[in-house]
Amino acid sequence: MNTPNDRQGGLATTRAHSARVYDYILGGKDHYPVDVEAGDAMARHWPALPVHMLENRRFMHRAARFLAQERGIRQFLDVGTGLPTSPNLHEVVQEVAPESHVVYVDNDPIVLAHARALLQSSPEGATAYVDANMHDPDAILGSQEFRELIDLGRPVGLMVIGIMHFILPPDDRRLVSRLLDPLPSGSYLAMTIGTADFAPDEVNRVAQEYRQQGMPFVLRDLPTATSFFDGLELQDPGVTQVHEWRPGPEQSDIDGRDIAMYGAVARKP
Ligand code: SAH
Repeated sequence: MNTPNDRQGGLATTRAHSARVYDYILGGKDHYPVDVEAGDAMARHWPALPVHMLENRRFMHRAARFLAQERGIRQFLDVGTGLPTSPNLHEVVQEVAPESHVVYVDNDPIVLAHARALLQSSPEGATAYVDANMHDPDAILGSQEFRELIDLGRPVGLMVIGIMHFILPPDDRRLVSRLLDPLPSGSYLAMTIGTADFAPDEVNRVAQEYRQQGMPFVLRDLPTATSFFDGLELQDPGVTQVHEWRPGPEQSDIDGRDIAMYGAVARKP
């Protein structure tokens, strides 16, 4: 149980939190000493961690731009948003189409505390933040924000980026399907999935560190990662390491051993 000393403004500060560790590794400023300790321990296990995390973020940017620009998607549901780091999803897609709607979801109080930055929508579009857990998809789909901003008569981009390593089997597949269920044909799933396939020793040590810090963690091989897209139409180039998915010039010097994340985008038929 938290004592008053454990908390600052309603935020537990005695245990590391995934959103704040990510923020610390990416060079942000919204974290506490426990998160620095945890992040440093992880980076000692695997010095490539910052490169890996940045490439995950850049995959999100390319996937979102692809959906907005090449597939005409104008509404997005982003589950596991993380701390606002510009450019956020709505900035990417509203640059393509200012009228785009984005609903953000996270369950970390520190993300909630910074949600205002996620709500700086273009005047033509709209953004909203839902404080909910992915383990309760009905709370997400039933939220007032989702119902007001997302028109289920038109396709939706479901973004599940950098969160599935915290969502353990056997519920993982069911939770993703449940979120896809109400979305109409022509909707898309963009997802990244952590893997130890390319630097097994180092990445498994990072996973162990997360678990020791009290954060459940799962890594998946290529067949398991690919199975999340069963029944959907994978878009080219299929399931790849994130830096190999429609790479830009920024990806040219990346060493594949530094990237522990698969990514893909698929269409709901
Ligand atoms: N999608 C962003 C942030 C990834 S960090 C990006 O890729 O850049 C992972 C985020 O998932 C954190 O903010 C964490 O709070 C959130 N998260 C972890 N488990 C969650 C759950 N069960 N429900 C909702 N959010 C969760």
